[in-house]
Amino acid sequence: DAAALVQMLFSLGEMVTATESVNDETFELLGEELNYNVQVVSPEDEDRELLESFDLEFGSDEGAEADLAARPPVVTVMGHVDHGKTKLLDALRSANVAGKEAGGITQHIGAYQVSTDVDGEDRRITFIDTPGHEAFTAMRARGAQATDIAVLVVAADDGVMPQTVEALNHAKAAGVPIVVAVNKIDKPDSDPTKVRGQLTEYGLVPEEYGGDTMFVDVSAKSELNLDKLLEAIVLTADASLDLRANPEQDAQGLVVEAHLDRGRGPVATILVQRGTLRVGESIVAGPAYGRVRAMLDEHGESVEAADPSRPVMVLGLTAVPGAGQNFIVVADDRMARQIAEKRESRERAAMQAKRRVRRTLEDFMASMEKGESQELNLILKGDVSGSVEALEDSLAKIDVGDEVTLRVIDRGVGAITETNVDLAAASDAIIIGFNVRPQGKATEMADKEGVEIRYYSVIYQAIEEIEAALKGMLKPEY
Ligand code: GDP
Repeated sequence: DAAALVQMLFSLGEMVTATESVNDETFELLGEELNYNVQVVSPEDEDRELLESFDLEFGSDEGAEADLAARPPVVTVMGHVDHGKTKLLDALRSANVAGKEAGGITQHIGAYQVSTDVDGEDRRITFIDTPGHEAFTAMRARGAQATDIAVLVVAADDGVMPQTVEALNHAKAAGVPIVVAVNKIDKPDSDPTKVRGQLTEYGLVPEEYGGDTMFVDVSAKSELNLDKLLEAIVLTADASLDLRANPEQDAQGLVVEAHLDRGRGPVATILVQRGTLRVGESIVAGPAYGRVRAMLDEHGESVEAADPSRPVMVLGLTAVPGAGQNFIVVADDRMARQIAEKRESRERAAMQAKRRVRRTLEDFMASMEKGESQELNLILKGDVSGSVEALEDSLAKIDVGDEVTLRVIDRGVGAITETNVDLAAASDAIIIGFNVRPQGKATEMADKEGVEIRYYSVIYQAIEEIEAALKGMLKPEY
């Protein structure tokens, strides 16, 4: 009975009460003691087993060393808001297109490839076309890593800002090398030297100071030094990464972005990570499947075969997969459908389970009272930067004692977006909206992911409620 289990756990050094939930390790420990083989299976493990049952494996190249060929680096652009991430991505894309075919129109498909000449060699680079570390984090939350190199954009007139530090921490945590683009050097008040000094303090020491990080002064607006930035990316990849993949095997990779197109049905931009994807092949992408009807590149031109690191828009899927989900080529449609259906039913079950453990402020209070969670993560969104700052300042002033940590993991101006919800889901955070509304499918997604969004229009009301929850969360002292 329960009392005996509590007794047993106590003897194993775990202090729990009969009604408390225990963590996975404790559960496994208990199983061992009772001679049961208890294994807590993660969704990733479950999916690995599912693929294994079809003799498939996602994630590593097939074949021998000799089968591997060099592949282009995949780059994500990160940095503080307004420092020029979007402008830089646009500039890199259009400058390159102009070089190729004049007048070509590029479309935003979520990623694009450019080529550049380095030491007389034509080298390609793939850019993920969603700026910011939210996309990066969302992918990582799904256990996927698309990025090989991070370009950290810092505006030379503004210098290192909170999100600059956040972005570099994300890249460091993922073990991704950083190239710094010191942007807006066309501005008279720009101070690129200061940026170098500031980043040195965060461990990013410029090569010219004896460190190993490449800094390139650029202007996204005047399209200055973009070729130098591309070269720095290639050189950084060559110096610290061994980017190779087997182009001959069945293709595998990640979904970068997907949506439902009115005329074309589900459309997904995928990044091939290994193998070569061809029109006509059967693929399964997350819970979606289908035969590749057509592939299009960022110029809207059709592609017959996509090799490693190549992003392409795929038509022919039955449903819209999620960003960060993997795709894999399988033998035939039947196998693709079977895998997709299994995943679909698992996702549904997981969603229902998640609904039951919604992360609401009340839940935090309840779990705090039980002594479980000690950390409240918040994402703040406001109509103007002043209100976000005021909110954050007041939150910082709440006296919560030593036992509870209040962390603002992200903040920003504007509507609550799907990326905000994604980050909240990945980090168990609650979203506070001040005078803002959700945008697009943010509400729907929050419901699905069990993320609480609380709306306020008066600052003290927001503070009062969060403070109450935090106070309620404090463990009773004896
Ligand atoms: P993001 O929030 O980091 O994506 O920043 P944006 O790309 O939207 O740029 C923010 C603002 O800075 C916009 O008004 C851009 O036109 C401007 N901007 C971006 N790059 C440059 C640059 O190199 N020079 C100047 N003068 N302005 C720039």
